[in-house]
Amino acid sequence: MTTNELITYGRQSIDEEDIKAVVEVLTSDWLTHGPKVPEFESAIATYCGAQYAVAVNSATSALHIACLALGVGQDDIVWTSPISFVASANCALYCGASVDFVDVEPQSGLISVTALTQKLEKAAQQNKLPKALIPVHLCGHSCDMEIIYSLCQKYNIKIIEDASHCIGGSYQNKKIGGCQYSDITIFSFHPVKIITSAEGGMALTNQPQLADCMAQLRSHGITKDSSFLINEAHGGWYYEQQQLGFNYRMTDIHAALGLSQLSKLDYFVEQRHKLVSVYNENFSNAGVNFISPVGECYSAYHLYILLLDLREQRDALFRTMREKGILVNIHYIPIHLQPYYEKLGFKSGYLPEAEHYYDRCLTIPLFPALTQEQQRFVIDTVMEHK
Ligand SMILES: *Cc1c(COP(=O)(O)O)cnc(C)c1O
Repeated sequence: MTTNELITYGRQSIDEEDIKAVVEVLTSDWLTHGPKVPEFESAIATYCGAQYAVAVNSATSALHIACLALGVGQDDIVWTSPISFVASANCALYCGASVDFVDVEPQSGLISVTALTQKLEKAAQQNKLPKALIPVHLCGHSCDMEIIYSLCQKYNIKIIEDASHCIGGSYQNKKIGGCQYSDITIFSFHPVKIITSAEGGMALTNQPQLADCMAQLRSHGITKDSSFLINEAHGGWYYEQQQLGFNYRMTDIHAALGLSQLSKLDYFVEQRHKLVSVYNENFSNAGVNFISPVGECYSAYHLYILLLDLREQRDALFRTMREKGILVNIHYIPIHLQPYYEKLGFKSGYLPEAEHYYDRCLTIPLFPALTQEQQRFVIDTVMEHK
């Protein structure tokens, strides 16, 4: 196959239904925060089996208000995975807290339960336990939440699942987002993720006080609800700002797109699985190593990641594929090696498994509209390079 078209590692699938849904909002009475937002929230909550869902303008915003709702503040520490997008760690810094990282399993890139156990024991001795842990379901593969939850229970640590990769997936036969083993779960609807609202995110929880708090924080910390007022209402126009919130609202335009996409979520995940089984078969037969879900998990398969043996091989394959128009990528540069985090005192060598993982990982294209021919081209390119 000769190709001039670029094959990205991930992309959205938008159809006529999606376009119609968005255009309908544009001609309606509400552009922002009208009926579509609560409709989207309750559809996601129902799909995931959570009590409450709060829609916001990005997963980054969702992480921020999730931390605030859990009371993360200046003297607190938040732990997360170094193998994630920077937003998983930045959210703690936004709250004035400090961040630390738990090393990962070398084969999955997920937070290592062994490393977590050891780090917790040490932190307990030093009286430096984190307020919250943010496990990241890399690729859409769930972390082992039951064990992580029991460890966090023991030390009274809150859990926010960063499930940006993971809507449509499940753990122990329950949808991710049900918050079985967490206080809050957040999703991203960025176009490369499983479903999109262009920009958008959501925070799910089963705890009403967290849902109320996050709903306030996304809109300036303001409430109009008479049952929440601190002072007596001055009249029908009355509202109160009760906390320092933000404008993190989702618009009805984005919610309409998200809702329309949600109706195709299971189909998207099935398509991803079909493509994954073709990759798996080809790569297994050829002895090419790749990341697979572990444990009781049905992955949403946001990413398909190869693990090469050596950095030089990975770098060479990256270059070859990019030259051929296959826009492979790296997920992720360990967060603690970002210059901003190095300024905070993190150094190379601090998280050896994450750094070793980073040297070997390569994300190849995976999205529902990837054609058989494109996939063949990707596989052949990997094979030629072996
Ligand atoms: C995409 C992503 C985010 C941020 O999502 P936005 O909606 O773009 O803010 C956070 N965490 C992870 C793991 C992500 O992949």
